[in-house]
Amino acid sequence: MKLSFSAEDEAFREELIAFIEANCPAAGYSSGDFIGTEVSDGDGIMVIPDWAREWQAALFDNGWMIPAYGPELGGRNATPTQTLIYLEELASRGIPRSVHFVGYAIAGPSLLEFGNPDQRALAPAAIRGDTVWCAGMSEPGAGSDLANISTRAVDEGDHFKVNGQKVWTSYAMLASKCLCYVRTDPDVPKHRGISALIIDMDTPGIEVRPLRHITGQAEFAEVFFTDVLVPKRNLVGEQGDGWRITMGALAHERGGLWVEGVAGCQRSIDDILTMIKSRGRDQDKVVRRRVAELYSQVRGLRALGYKGFASFAQGTSAPEHSFMKVATSELHQTLIELAMDLQGAGLAVTDRAVAESKGRWQQSFFTGLAATIGGGTSEVQRNVIAQRVLGLPRGR
Ligand SMILES: Cc1cc2nc3c(=O)[nH]c(=O)nc-3n(C[C@H](O)[C@H](O)[C@H](O)COP(=O)(O)OP(=O)(O)OC[C@H]3O[C@@H](n4cnc5c(N)ncnc54)[C@H](O)[C@@H]3O)c2cc1C
Repeated sequence: MKLSFSAEDEAFREELIAFIEANCPAAGYSSGDFIGTEVSDGDGIMVIPDWAREWQAALFDNGWMIPAYGPELGGRNATPTQTLIYLEELASRGIPRSVHFVGYAIAGPSLLEFGNPDQRALAPAAIRGDTVWCAGMSEPGAGSDLANISTRAVDEGDHFKVNGQKVWTSYAMLASKCLCYVRTDPDVPKHRGISALIIDMDTPGIEVRPLRHITGQAEFAEVFFTDVLVPKRNLVGEQGDGWRITMGALAHERGGLWVEGVAGCQRSIDDILTMIKSRGRDQDKVVRRRVAELYSQVRGLRALGYKGFASFAQGTSAPEHSFMKVATSELHQTLIELAMDLQGAGLAVTDRAVAESKGRWQQSFFTGLAATIGGGTSEVQRNVIAQRVLGLPRGR
């Protein structure tokens, strides 16, 4: 087993760190910290500040947005190992690439994989953040069971007429385009009747109603479609091929997520260590044991992530990665709960001016709840592990 990086990879790391140090306006934050602070207006509705637009554009223009892509797509043809280094360096510093992930993580890669030449031409602006995208998958009756979507698109010759509702649509209030999954054929088995459409959000008949998080801030929305006319040229892939595209889109969303999950846990344990020292709790046996247990879990998950990455880089499947989303999101919630406990009555203080660590833990306590839901709930991930990794029969 080789546990070190090559000289070339270390040079890549150095160049990245130099770029971050010279250009990054956002070190020391996580994207969760941004929600409700720098990226919402006085009413709590999400906005994209100028510095975030400029940072994302600078990453793209210098080949640091998606390093594995070529320069025309904001990358530098980096190897998988270099991508791992990149993700770790950003995540361990709490630096987001963007405050809205759908364009670079879902829409852009999906258009490149499944779109026609005109649609692929939309990808650079999506990845650079010049065009803000949202992803219309979930509906009131279709979340974990995504194939159940009922938003209907009726084929009317040169266009589709769309009626229905999406929910939990991140950034819908800011987006100019939606990669939207609709039912084009209700008479075939449900996985086969779904299609993917690019819908311009300023098309007549679309209503966006922001939904507030438990923090009071609105980062996602309900989206209602009433007789929305969408040109046929906006169909991505073949009609009825939407299920395959959703699976591709979710894989794009999840790839590399484990690195950010592990790095987030590592940052939290580091911050907890600082907190117990500053509060004089570092001689408390119960606290010491608890922190040591959680530290060993974080390190164990990192090792597991690396093992999966090594298999993946060699072209074999990495079942370890099925565990990583569940494990890192749940471990992070436990870490945040410990940090809240350590504050005693101070845990109820949400005013950033006086709260411990500027309210980082209170904010994370709320936003961390979403981590075991978005992108596939923990329960559903466990079903996947049971069936695909452990080979157990489908539950009834
Ligand atoms: C912060 C955030 C951002 C999001 N952004 C977007 C977005 O941009 N676009 C988008 O389309 N969606 C988005 N979502 C929605 C997300 O994909 C769904 O919330 C998720 O897929 C779960 O679906 P649901 O909320 O309908 O819950 P449901 O599927 O109704 O699940 C309810 C409960 O039942 C459990 N459950 C369901 N099925 C099973 C099963 N088979 N076995 C055991 N337990 C089960 C679930 O685990 C959960 O606890 C976002 C969610 C969050 C939290």
